[in-house]
Amino acid sequence: MDPHDVELCIDDGIEPGPGRPTSTPVVQTSLFTYPTLAALSDALAAEHRHPVYTRGQNPTVEVLERKLAALERGEACKAFGSGMAAVSAVFLGLLEAGDHVVFFNHVYGPTLQLAQHLRRFGIDHTVVRGTDLAELEAALGPSTRLIWTESPGTMLFRVVDLAAVAELGRGRGITTAIDNSWCTPLFQKPLTLGFDLVMHTATKYLGGHSDVVAGAVVGDAQRLEQIFYRAFLLNGGILHPWDAWLLLRGLRTLPARMERIQADGLAVARQLADHPAVAQVFHPGLVDGPPFLESQMTGHAGVFSFRLADPSGEAVRRVVDGLRLFRIGVSWGGVESLALSPQRGDDAEARAALERQGLPLGLIRISVGLEGAGALTADLEQALAGIA
Ligand SMILES: *Cc1c(COP(=O)(O)O)cnc(C)c1O
Repeated sequence: MDPHDVELCIDDGIEPGPGRPTSTPVVQTSLFTYPTLAALSDALAAEHRHPVYTRGQNPTVEVLERKLAALERGEACKAFGSGMAAVSAVFLGLLEAGDHVVFFNHVYGPTLQLAQHLRRFGIDHTVVRGTDLAELEAALGPSTRLIWTESPGTMLFRVVDLAAVAELGRGRGITTAIDNSWCTPLFQKPLTLGFDLVMHTATKYLGGHSDVVAGAVVGDAQRLEQIFYRAFLLNGGILHPWDAWLLLRGLRTLPARMERIQADGLAVARQLADHPAVAQVFHPGLVDGPPFLESQMTGHAGVFSFRLADPSGEAVRRVVDGLRLFRIGVSWGGVESLALSPQRGDDAEARAALERQGLPLGLIRISVGLEGAGALTADLEQALAGIA
């Protein structure tokens, strides 16, 4: 982990001086006034840089944005009231009717649902579920304006060659964007690999305590300005100053949390890989990765999945319901460990739903929290014993 990143995470964002507080002040105001009409006009002329009204810019939120931009090595950042608000703002801020988007690798479900709705506004898309660059290239057309990817991808955690994707986009004038929530900026910096935009749900690891919903986009100043004026400011999906403060507090322990989660996640994944009731573990740290991975990803998060040898809905239900320490719920990235399965039963409809998503039967996803590897492996051991 880069020591400069750790320093950035812990920094309070306050100018040094006597009587310096250790935590960023919460500027809880809707409105900022100016001494003259001319000064207000100047501020309004660059509302993405000046506090005028909290639907635009707010100083507490700005501290967070500066920090996330620095962590991702980007010029600018905009924070949002949720990860989906950030995704929406990229689409609505950068795309026109007639444009085409390609989704590469397994992408977060609601992002694809949003893309379905964009068809109502004349924006089409293609989903490429694999990780093969030739397949991605074949899906690009003359109207493709955006390649959107996740690496590792949702649910199966497969990785794609980000430098190669960025190069493909650059060569054709296509914007490349990645949902980098799994790695956090600590373990992967896609902008340094040539990507144009990075999106985060800050609800997960960045916040880290399951107590705030938020999102962010980081990239070059020009694209971020376009996203600010054409989407963020008018959609109104703002991040509140208090929630920005919770994120700033969460960020301060991000390096320590991620190191612990990485180690415990790998320990749990290895235990599962050796278990006779488990057919396969989908964790990018367990297999020999492709050659590009070493320079692309410097660490592993604690969200991954595994496939039971018995793929029945009943086995999935018994294992998940049998867990005592892992709680059952959506989301991930908090201090509490979680489990969930996309499998909704044993009937033909449940199987078809999985097939549509390109997912295997018997899949269980877990998010490793901070309870400790020993307690978590013991819990999984007893839950898996229930289907022996
Ligand atoms: C949760 C999640 C999102 C959406 O973020 P919200 O903050 O819930 O809106 C986007 N991408 C990934 C990978 C997620 O897990």
